[in-house]
Amino acid sequence: MSLSFCNNFTGKTPIFRGAGVKKKDIERFKERLEEERRELLRRARQTLQDDMALDLHELSDELDFAASQADQGLILRLRGREKGMLRKINVALQRIEDGEFGVCDRCGEDIALKRLEIRPVTTLCIHCKQEQEEHERMLA
Ligand SMILES: [Zn+2]
Repeated sequence: MSLSFCNNFTGKTPIFRGAGVKKKDIERFKERLEEERRELLRRARQTLQDDMALDLHELSDELDFAASQADQGLILRLRGREKGMLRKINVALQRIEDGEFGVCDRCGEDIALKRLEIRPVTTLCIHCKQEQEEHERMLA
């Protein structure tokens, strides 16, 4: 065994990466994320039930039909957003499992605790996030 033992297999970052977020904070984030996931799933079920109720309505004229179309669009958008959020929560929970929570996906630096408090599902530190946003602005 030599010095290579100190690094993980990617050799990208030291073995103690993520040490910036304390274990008790991670537990707290985990609970918060699981709670948020439960809430999302509850809302998704609710939306589904409302959707089924909508199907029971007889569409009498074009005006009603147009309104109904708008509602459907709203539900679809909401679902898309919830689906995206759910995926982010799952990724964050997986990162907790892997011991990678609180580590920037791009540069491997610790993500500031304050930033995680505001947005626990984030996978980028503030610097990389800003760079990414600037990049997206340039593409837009
Ligand atoms: Zn970063």
